[in-house]
Amino acid sequence: MISEPVKAAARVWPFVCTNCGRHAPAGQLVYHCPTCGGVFDLDAPIPYAPSSPASDRVGLARFRSSFPLGEDTPWITLGEGGTPLIASEIDHRTVHFKCEHLNPTGSFKDRGASVLVSALAAAGVVEAIEDSSGNAGAAFAAYAARAGIRARVFVPDGASPRKRAQIAAYGAEIVRLLGPRSQVAEAIRREADAGAVYASHIWLPFGLAGFATLAFELVEQLGEVPGAVLLPAGHGTLVLGLSRGFAAMQTAGAIDRVPKLIAAQAAACAPLWAAHQAGGQAVAWVQEGETRAEGIRILQPLRGDAVLKAVEASGGTIVAIDEPSIAQGEAELSRRGFFVEPTSAVVWGALQASLRSLPDPVVAVLTGSGLKSEPAPA
Ligand SMILES: [Zn+2]
Repeated sequence: MISEPVKAAARVWPFVCTNCGRHAPAGQLVYHCPTCGGVFDLDAPIPYAPSSPASDRVGLARFRSSFPLGEDTPWITLGEGGTPLIASEIDHRTVHFKCEHLNPTGSFKDRGASVLVSALAAAGVVEAIEDSSGNAGAAFAAYAARAGIRARVFVPDGASPRKRAQIAAYGAEIVRLLGPRSQVAEAIRREADAGAVYASHIWLPFGLAGFATLAFELVEQLGEVPGAVLLPAGHGTLVLGLSRGFAAMQTAGAIDRVPKLIAAQAAACAPLWAAHQAGGQAVAWVQEGETRAEGIRILQPLRGDAVLKAVEASGGTIVAIDEPSIAQGEAELSRRGFFVEPTSAVVWGALQASLRSLPDPVVAVLTGSGLKSEPAPA
């Protein structure tokens, strides 16, 4: 599988290597720095400039000028963004739940996938590969289908069968991968080296701009800056995107402070929490244990150091939530009408651990739908 020549690449991806500082080569779509293997990031701060209320744009499309895409880039949309913010009383406090599980494919990943796939379509890509434990693969498959891009999604064998079925339903080819994550990464690298377009939601920074829109919507919906935002963190790209979004609004003069970011990991696999506990110098080496929160079972967060810095700069913290608390979170959230996947339920444990000390208004992000996870054991 050889990638098509990439059109208008210099305008579409102004990326810089976070390791050696070199720019992404013009005219190519490469997932990492060809010189040093480093991770690319956006070369400029994300701007905050929503389209005027008079425009007919809705959801993410309202924030088109915040994305690293040319203005004339066709927008590949399924109606993502603009999700409800629903208040609920917890321990005599009001918590605002941001219902990202109500996005088109049932997770917040649609915000990133719409930007990523719009960029691929603009570049003339006709076939691409992606790897994911589930939600990102489903989002990629859906938006690729919408754009007419052939998708192959590499899925680790432990992924939820319902998520695999969802990916296949969109017409993507599923490649099931047995064995450890390192072998999965190796298999992907071989494909990319052979010329496949590796449209990674982790390696490519398009998604960060998509996730920044969550910050924009929260401020608009609350009518003020949140005091704290609690959210699940695996690689932590949502944490990072949210942090960039609030920074963009602060730079634009739309807000005068930023919220504390409270990132929740599953205790069974909590490298960011461990590093934060150790003083936040670098991502720590931890074990990968079994957890129902499969969406955040990430042993080596690719942008982990940047995520740690973002949390610490916000005055927030990282918490580790054990399995009984995750199960309790699923039950408690469902009883309030929020049917979310176990990964999202870590925010319940985070609320239990920290709500008392958090400034109002408090927001908890519900990242993925319960409809595509396996039922809790009876
Ligand atoms: Zn480099």
